Amino acid sequence: MNILLIGSGGREHALAWKIARSPRTSTLFVAPGNAGICEEAECVSLDVTDHAAVIDFCRRNDVRLVTVGPEAPLVAGLADALAEEGIAVFGPRRDAARLEGSKSFTKDICRRYGIPTADYAVFEDADSALAHLREKGAPIVVKADGLAAGKGVIVATDMETAETAIRDIFGGAFGAAGAKVVLEEMLVGEEASFFAVCDGRTALPLATAQDHKRAFDGDRGPNTGGMGAYTPAPVMTEEMCDRVMERIILPTMKAMEEAGCPFTGVLYAGLMITESGPQLIEYNVRFGDPECQPLMMRLETDLVDLMEAAAAGDLAGGAVDWSDRAALTVVMAAKGYPGSYEKGTVIEGVERAEEDPLVKVFHAGTARGEGGELLAVGGRVLNVTALGDTITEAQRRAYDAVAKIHWPEGFYRKDIGWRAVEREKN
Ligand code: AMP
Repeated sequence: MNILLIGSGGREHALAWKIARSPRTSTLFVAPGNAGICEEAECVSLDVTDHAAVIDFCRRNDVRLVTVGPEAPLVAGLADALAEEGIAVFGPRRDAARLEGSKSFTKDICRRYGIPTADYAVFEDADSALAHLREKGAPIVVKADGLAAGKGVIVATDMETAETAIRDIFGGAFGAAGAKVVLEEMLVGEEASFFAVCDGRTALPLATAQDHKRAFDGDRGPNTGGMGAYTPAPVMTEEMCDRVMERIILPTMKAMEEAGCPFTGVLYAGLMITESGPQLIEYNVRFGDPECQPLMMRLETDLVDLMEAAAAGDLAGGAVDWSDRAALTVVMAAKGYPGSYEKGTVIEGVERAEEDPLVKVFHAGTARGEGGELLAVGGRVLNVTALGDTITEAQRRAYDAVAKIHWPEGFYRKDIGWRAVEREKN
């Protein structure tokens, strides 16, 4: 079967790597891909905002399954356009992608279906939001309602920060995403990510992960797309995973079906594990980047079979197999990221880093220079991923591999996995 994968990050390299290894795959096309993906698949240039062009590509190349890495094309309705043409898609339609695209939509579902989440209120103007803030006080979490590339959330520990955030959002700091503001109670606990694969009616649990959003060691510095991740998350015991399925994922599936927008694809729940149990912080409607990279290293079930069954509404009674090993990813980013950074610097040593069969380097912002040299062309650039019997061992292996990569213009966190490693010491 010919498959088209949309995206160009580390997440898509990990997906491409897995899809390319499936005996079900004839040709894998990736639009637009990156230097690493081009070694696994045929990279093509396609304007994914032009749905007719994507459909035309699929027709001309006999593509039978499309899978979408990032959220933006889903929120823009690419899955609807493809499905209407009879092309199978792994990913939600526009209405269902609101679980990520609109925080207030998700919060309303939580309220109606008793899904545990932080108390909240939604505002359409600054004055009423500020009045609510004065009533509730800090700490409080201020969120732009729409998609803001992970930057529209401000955890405000004092009133001034909260007030500034409200004014900034309504002042247009996040464009259309800030037409509404959600104010919510600050949850206290340990964060974890839970992934499920969904076919519109049924959901199967995938696995758990934890990521590191801040740029620097000790969880300091600005928020980023993610500087590293590992799986499984030790806080997510089997009992906790069962609770998440019963109290959060399955009620959401029911809510979406009853609302006439059944959810298909990967549902990624960002959770806070509080003293009173798991609470939903937010949903994403696709794999996380970088969480996808260590997840794909552990996945044993054929990813193409899984995506096809989900797209066909055929997951019932299935199960997903995972390696018992842990996996951990260290992100290497260009110095300056998430602010401005230099492009076109040369990276050496990736092949050396991959000599260990339990290591894989997934590319994000990379391209090949004229002489074939590997160039950094983005903020997050490489995802050095390793397997290990424990997270401690995966961490050691990943950092041994990072040490073999020569890239003076890059940086990485030295403490990815610290929380899990601490636990493993006890
Ligand atoms: P997001 O960019 O939507 O992934 O959210 C960014 C981060 O904000 C989350 O990963 C949490 O660390 C934090 N956050 C969001 N909502 C809350 C909340 N209600 N309580 C505490 N932290 C939160």
